[in-house]
Amino acid sequence: MSYLALYRKYRPQAFSEVRGQDHIVTTLKNQLKAERIGHAYLFCGTRGTGKTSVAKLFAKAVNCESPVDGSPCGKCPVCQSIDRMTSMNVVELDAASNNSVDNIRDIIDSSKYAPTEGRYKVFIIDEVHMLSTSAFNALLKTLEEPPAYVIFILATTEVHKIPITILSRCQRYDFKRITTDVIAGCLKDLMESEGIEHEDKALKYIARVADGSMRDAESLLDQCIAFYIGKALTYDRVLEVLGSVDVEVFARLLRFVGNGDVSGCMNILDEVMQSGRELTQFVTDFAGYLRNLLLAKSVDDPTEVLELSKENMELVIHEAEVAEKEQLIRYIGILSELSNRIRYASQKRLLIEVELIKLARPETQEDYSSLLDRIRVLENKLENGSFTVKTAERDDEGETQSEEASFNPSDTELTKALPEDILQVAEHWQMIASNMSSKDKLAATMLADATPAEENGKLVVYFKNTLDLETMRYKREVNGVEQPSRMDILKNVISELTGLDIMMDAGSGENERNLKNRDIRKRKQVNFNIKKID
Ligand SMILES: [Zn+2]
Repeated sequence: MSYLALYRKYRPQAFSEVRGQDHIVTTLKNQLKAERIGHAYLFCGTRGTGKTSVAKLFAKAVNCESPVDGSPCGKCPVCQSIDRMTSMNVVELDAASNNSVDNIRDIIDSSKYAPTEGRYKVFIIDEVHMLSTSAFNALLKTLEEPPAYVIFILATTEVHKIPITILSRCQRYDFKRITTDVIAGCLKDLMESEGIEHEDKALKYIARVADGSMRDAESLLDQCIAFYIGKALTYDRVLEVLGSVDVEVFARLLRFVGNGDVSGCMNILDEVMQSGRELTQFVTDFAGYLRNLLLAKSVDDPTEVLELSKENMELVIHEAEVAEKEQLIRYIGILSELSNRIRYASQKRLLIEVELIKLARPETQEDYSSLLDRIRVLENKLENGSFTVKTAERDDEGETQSEEASFNPSDTELTKALPEDILQVAEHWQMIASNMSSKDKLAATMLADATPAEENGKLVVYFKNTLDLETMRYKREVNGVEQPSRMDILKNVISELTGLDIMMDAGSGENERNLKNRDIRKRKQVNFNIKKID
């Protein structure tokens, strides 16, 4: 069996098989049924949205001997000769490679002869915006007075490049980007006809990468099938073939960037390189991830606008809460500029490294937006008490001494916390989290999502995931000096609020132990409250 690319094999044979362009298909079918056919059509829209497929269907439908509900029958001699591309009635021209006035003159010459079979001569000009000015002028003359049996279908991805004189003579149809769900559904049908086992998640992923283009989706699916011939198409295999990076990796990278941790960023880049991912795609995907965060921050219900799997949706919503809008906008700006440059660069890795440093260290950039970031970094240092003030003063002996003054509330005398105290702290957890937010918004959000528990006289904070846990424990280094972690700051905040010295620990995840502890905590709280009433 000869191998036929999926998008050729499954090119729609009837209007009902065209996906995601219902508004266009309905109008065209109505015209066909009423026999009110125009002489010039303009199909606009991004690549792979079905412009050429619909043009070919229309060309067949106007000539078909026995159309069914406006669609071509596919069986009559006219339909079949068009399918075999032997018909003189349908002429296709790719203006991307044939854009001269001579190419258009050939078309105009052949339009002078009425069709020998069927009723219409249909000229399909793809990428019509590529035509030269003289070619457009020649075309315009024919469009002004076309023979009754001639139909022009002009297709373009860049409608703004079409002269207004041409536009005004065409019926315009805008092809929409096809939604992920529609594409995924179509891919599922294909896989079922091909009899290939698959995970829905895998198809959904391909659909998302295709970004509204059915043709891209089908050729991506082709790539994946070809790579694992005879095997089931799983999500992991799709990720393997398409060289995609997991959302979790982006989340970690963003945290490193936010922490100003350049070596952490470089480690992730290493990971990405070692797994054989394509770097251009990596940059585009990271920008896409940030865009999702920004969207999630900007709308009331992110689940309505983001097309993500359930797990990724949860992660994105959580990460969006901790990210700052201005920061995201600055990052997206840098990355989209990078993704333009990187495509043809030979030193891709070097380029990415430089840009990651720019992101992580706003002090290396001098424009206004990075200034906001630099202020944020300074504010955090001040609020966290990690800002070291060096004072030089003369003492009695007249020698110059250098003294470091560092803010630390735990210098004052604190009472050792009892298990009951810790339970009280756990009970007022949201209050503690909101107290953190004036010092560190990221920490506050992670704490709000965390579960506190009392274990052996210690306050143990269980974070939602290991990423949160690592971020809370992370100690940044400035000029070789280790800065307090967010956990250290949390300990100070709790001490300030309660006057207690509390032993603390942290964990992550919703494991069984954690849930059990939560129950114990609740029970103990009840007892404790009763005692208090007594
Ligand atoms: Zn037919």
